[in-house]
Amino acid sequence: MAPDGSRSFPYFSEGIVELGGLPLEAISGPETDPAMSRILPEDAERVEAQTRHSAATMDNVHVEFRALHADGSIRWIECRSTPQREADGGILWTGILLDITQRKRAEERVQAMAITDGLTGITNRQEFSRLLDKEMERASRYATPLSLIMYDLDHFKHINDRFGHNTGDDVLKTVAGLVNDSIRGIDHHGRWGGEEFMVLLPHTGLEAASRVAEKLRQTIASHRFETLGSVTASFGVVELAGGENSRSLAQRVDEALYRAKALGRNRVEAQASRQGAQ
Ligand code: GH3
Ligand code: MG
Ligand code: MG
Repeated sequence: MAPDGSRSFPYFSEGIVELGGLPLEAISGPETDPAMSRILPEDAERVEAQTRHSAATMDNVHVEFRALHADGSIRWIECRSTPQREADGGILWTGILLDITQRKRAEERVQAMAITDGLTGITNRQEFSRLLDKEMERASRYATPLSLIMYDLDHFKHINDRFGHNTGDDVLKTVAGLVNDSIRGIDHHGRWGGEEFMVLLPHTGLEAASRVAEKLRQTIASHRFETLGSVTASFGVVELAGGENSRSLAQRVDEALYRAKALGRNRVEAQASRQGAQ
């Protein structure tokens, strides 16, 4: 970086050719654009911010970003460099660029596995709890309604007993898929326990959520499974009340579901809040 703020790359080693797929001539020279423009726009700002910070503080640069390779693929690059003040007041960074694509892909896979239920592929309980907390915070901050549906398959023990555990597993996968296909993109669907699931509906009040639950109930009940015919599920629905915590909300939805079971199963029971907010 020259004293006037203009930038250039005075030197690239041959390794840059493999990293970016471009010939050295294409990226060397007084312009930084041929190299910098390969960085994805989503990450370019972060790289720029790090560079400015380093120029202001003389701290080392350590940044990871995605760049477009000449073969059309996206590569993850790690950059580490050290700034050094030049006699003319400019700054010279010396550093290395590493292709960390494989490590990033592995990390992404591990992260996805940590929040996903292995059988159904939907959000696991731990992640669903985190999303619940986040949505509850958002709902109270912006004073928007938030509703929670819990459903549990009816007489699922019979299905396992009659058709075997593998068939039971297939039913769980299919039901989770049916529900996934029926809810909005902003809704969250999680596996809460064995054959108990939750659907969290932001910007949705009790009445609308009950209609969603009823639609889900019908979708499940009307699906025809190959060997076993049909299965049904019971539903509890609640809406978050002012000042309510997640434990209370989960307990209320469990109670509503229990009532749906007690009243004969294959039905939806909504529960207005205890504070009488409904
Ligand atoms: P209810 O209508 O009262 O809900 O009756 P139910 O038989 O479904 O009773 P409950 O919900 O208590 O039983 C859950 C059963 O689900 C027991 C367990 O064997 C079965 N289950 C739990 N997790 C799995 C799983 O991952 N795969 C299979 N195949 N079965 C499971
Ligand atoms: Mg059950
Ligand atoms: Mg159960």
